[in-house]
Amino acid sequence: TQDAQYLLSLIRTIPGFPKEGINFRDFMPVLADAKGLSILIDALAKALPVSVDDFDAVAGLESRGFLIGAPLAMRLNKGFIAIRKAGKLPPPTKSMSYSLEYGTAAIEVEDQAFKPGERILVVDDLIATGGTAAAAERLIQMNGATVAGFSFVMELTGIPTPAAISAYKRSSLLTMP
Ligand code: IMP
Repeated sequence: TQDAQYLLSLIRTIPGFPKEGINFRDFMPVLADAKGLSILIDALAKALPVSVDDFDAVAGLESRGFLIGAPLAMRLNKGFIAIRKAGKLPPPTKSMSYSLEYGTAAIEVEDQAFKPGERILVVDDLIATGGTAAAAERLIQMNGATVAGFSFVMELTGIPTPAAISAYKRSSLLTMP
């Protein structure tokens, strides 16, 4: 569509970042563009993986997930929860570690961030291996809430996503190699 073309025209590709062999996709210029930002949030709201009545709150993954998650939540009349990288939030927190290609990372939320039984839409700029999204799902479940679906701006093709999240409803605005 025309909107997808417009968004694509603003996304930068940086070869070799953060390391050789990786094509880093940068959507910051979309946010910097008044028309791009408005198209982006509209498109995410239109392409929800589930009905707006089927989730209670939006959770964004640090840090680019915050930039789209909060305006999307506001647009949909929902609250927003930040899923942060370890060590940023004041105690008490709940954390979940997950493995990266080299080593491990951890994500955290404030202890009472999720209400029992709350249904969460998880948002982020990009899904690659799905490891981050799967860790977010485990963190949400550990807190007594459930994942209703995942919304991404970009999805990399040619990478199998883990079964842990493929069972959930998922939408991506743009797919790219
Ligand atoms: P995954 O866990 O392999 O799916 O990687 C997704 C996470 O890494 C997300 O939080 C993304 O923001 C980040 N990420 C991975 N590759 C890129 C990229 O090319 N551009 C922007 N973010 C990326």
